[in-house]
Amino acid sequence: MTYQELKQEEAQYVMNTYGRFPIAIDHGEGAILWDVEGKRYVDLTSGIGVCSVGYNNETVVSAIREQAAKLMHISNLFLTEPMVQTAKTLVTACGMGKVFFANSGAEANEGAIKLARKYSYDKYGEGRSKIVTLYNSFHGRTITTLKATGQDKFHQYFFPFTEGFVNAKANDMEDVKAKTDDATCAIMMEMVQGEGGVLPLDVEFVQAVETFCRERDLLLIIDEVQTGIGRTGSLFAYQQYGIQPDVVTMAKGLGGGVPIGAVMAAKSCESVLTPGTHATTFGGTPLCCAAANAVLSIVNQPEFLEEVKKKGEYLRKRLEEISTGKIIQIRGMGLMLGVVVKEEERAALAAACMERGVLVLTAGKDVIRLLPPLTITYEEIDEAIEAWKGVF
Ligand SMILES: *Cc1c(COP(=O)(O)O)cnc(C)c1O
Repeated sequence: MTYQELKQEEAQYVMNTYGRFPIAIDHGEGAILWDVEGKRYVDLTSGIGVCSVGYNNETVVSAIREQAAKLMHISNLFLTEPMVQTAKTLVTACGMGKVFFANSGAEANEGAIKLARKYSYDKYGEGRSKIVTLYNSFHGRTITTLKATGQDKFHQYFFPFTEGFVNAKANDMEDVKAKTDDATCAIMMEMVQGEGGVLPLDVEFVQAVETFCRERDLLLIIDEVQTGIGRTGSLFAYQQYGIQPDVVTMAKGLGGGVPIGAVMAAKSCESVLTPGTHATTFGGTPLCCAAANAVLSIVNQPEFLEEVKKKGEYLRKRLEEISTGKIIQIRGMGLMLGVVVKEEERAALAAACMERGVLVLTAGKDVIRLLPPLTITYEEIDEAIEAWKGVF
């Protein structure tokens, strides 16, 4: 089908909840995508950080193929090897305690919120259930994670939202302290606010939050749904902040393209969720865990992570060369970069990039967000830069 035909049928059959780009993607290879009309693109989106090791990655595809033929799914009433293996790899890499598997980022965060509230309930009884999150954060689209998200535009229509969330200013320890009281059980934050505009938190702030959490026995929940699985040049971004969280959530890049999320708890709170308190039908399903194991076998290697840092620096350096004045600032970590432009110019710039064969994302009000597959080559980065030079 052509794009126009697909577009017509979409309008008839699919709920109109996305402002989509005007192309339909057919297939991909590495960091290159082709649309249904055969046009080629260098992809700096990776399905919003999902296709972490590129399209048609041989290791991931063959792991999925083999597992699909063997056993795609079985309920969590039974044990499977791929699930245990994924948990073991994550825990070992991070010095954490145990993992619970979910199917998305929002669900992983829901699990973390439940864990924090029960941790506090078990220890202190009722009434200690509030969670501090940061302004400009993004934690998901369920009724609870929308409320956890510190942006007012997400707090509309769907009332009543889940109670128990307050927002504090990022990089403002005084505000975090002011928003915390005897009813608080946790602080949750992203190391680099992704949807909010690719805003990395300050190291001193993050470390001060950790110290404060220890003083008050608050759980420190780090939402690594976007920053995790090598995106910033370490397996998780918090590892570059010199902290040890209580709970880490992840999703997007973990499955390399299949839906999987996870909540990872430190030893101190690894046993809070017990039989009957949390569960999901698809969580930890062998098909998705086989994919995650393949992704981790690639990403969880020091040389690979070092390359992500180098490519991130290279991409940033090449972007800085484009000095036409349209780029106001470049920020981010590893291969998670935000290019700040004028708010009123952004849509046209993103469209022009696509026109010239480079796919980009947006974030915040005025940011062009780049999340290429971590396996992107230097040649592909150069190709994207050439197109950008034309645009800018
Ligand atoms: C994308 C994202 C989520 C939500 O993940 P879904 O899989 O869309 O539910 C949560 N937190 C952060 C930081 C994200 O980037």
